[in-house]
Amino acid sequence: MPSHYPAQPPWVYWTVGIASSVLLLLSVLFHELFHSYVAKRRGMAVPDITLFLFGGVARILEEPGDPGMELEMAAAGPLSSFGLAILFKAAWLIASSLGAGALILAPLDYGFLINVLLGAFNLLPAFPMDGGRMLRAALWRWRGNLLEATGIATQIGSAFAYLFMFLGFILMFTTSLLNGIWLVVIGWFLKSGAESSLRQTIISNALAELRVGDVMTTKIDAIGPDVPVGEIVEYFMKYKHGGFPVMRDGEFLGLVTVSDVKRVPREDWHRVRAGDIMKPRSEIISASPDEPIIEAMVKMSAHGVGRLPVIEDGELKGIITRSDLMRTIRIRTELGR
Ligand SMILES: [Zn+2]
Repeated sequence: MPSHYPAQPPWVYWTVGIASSVLLLLSVLFHELFHSYVAKRRGMAVPDITLFLFGGVARILEEPGDPGMELEMAAAGPLSSFGLAILFKAAWLIASSLGAGALILAPLDYGFLINVLLGAFNLLPAFPMDGGRMLRAALWRWRGNLLEATGIATQIGSAFAYLFMFLGFILMFTTSLLNGIWLVVIGWFLKSGAESSLRQTIISNALAELRVGDVMTTKIDAIGPDVPVGEIVEYFMKYKHGGFPVMRDGEFLGLVTVSDVKRVPREDWHRVRAGDIMKPRSEIISASPDEPIIEAMVKMSAHGVGRLPVIEDGELKGIITRSDLMRTIRIRTELGR
C-alpha cells in the first residue's frame, strides 16, 4: 500500500490494511456462496461453508450428476469473483472521479485485485480447484466415465501440487522465505485435496447401484419404552450398538442412543425410562429400503447422525449404520467393484 499510495499517515495504512483483510475474507465467502447457490439450485445438499487460512470450501456432499452440472457448479465461483472485481473497479472509478482519498480508494483497488486473482488462481486446471473440476467435466464428457476422468484430473492436480511445492522451495531459498513457505503449504494442501476427492469419487462409484435395503441390518434388537436407563446401559455393553429402536407391540416409537443415555445423571438411572429420553419418531431422520445408499450417507453426514432407521409403509424394516456403510465400501473397493 505505501508504494501505491505514498505519503499517508500510519493510521491510514493500518485502517486500509484491516479493511482490505475483511474484503478478502468477504470475497472468498462470496465466491463459495456462489458455488453453493448453483449447487443448491441443482438439488445438491450443501451443509456448510468453511473459511480458513487458504481460502474457503463449500462442502457439497454428492458427486454431480452429469458433466454439464459439474461445469456449471465449478465455473460459478470464478465467474462470481470476476463479476465482483468489475464492481470494485466501477466503485473505484466513481470514487476517484469524486476525488476520494486513499482511505476509500486503496481498499477498492485491493478488492478489484484480489477478486481478479481469486478468479484466475481458481481457474488453474489443478483438481480439485475449480479449473480442475472444469477439466474433469470435459474429460468426463469426452470419455463418458466419471471415475476415469477423476483419475486423470487427480494426476494433473497432483502434478500442479508438486510444481507449487518445488517453486515454493526455490522461492524460500532465494527471494522470499515467507512466500516460499506459503506456496509449499498450498501445494501440500492441493495434493491432499486431490487425493481425498478421488477417494470420494471411488466410494460413490462403489456404492452407485446399491440401495439401503441391500446393506441394512434387518435383525432389530429393540427395547420397550418402559425399560429403565440402567438396563439400557447394560444392553449397550452387551450388544455393542450405538443406539436402539424403541418399540411397543411392533410399533416403532423412537430411538435411544448412547448420547441420550449420557445426559441422564447416574442416580436417576433406575427411575428414568427409555420412553422419557428417546428421540421420538417424528423427529428422526429415516431412510427407505429402495433409497440409494449415497443418499443415506448424505443424510447421515448432513444431520450428524450415525444411524438411520429404515421405514417402509410406516413399519420399521431395519437399521442402517455408518459402520454398515464402511464395511460395504471396504469390501466393494477391495473386490474392485
Ligand atoms: Zn471456487
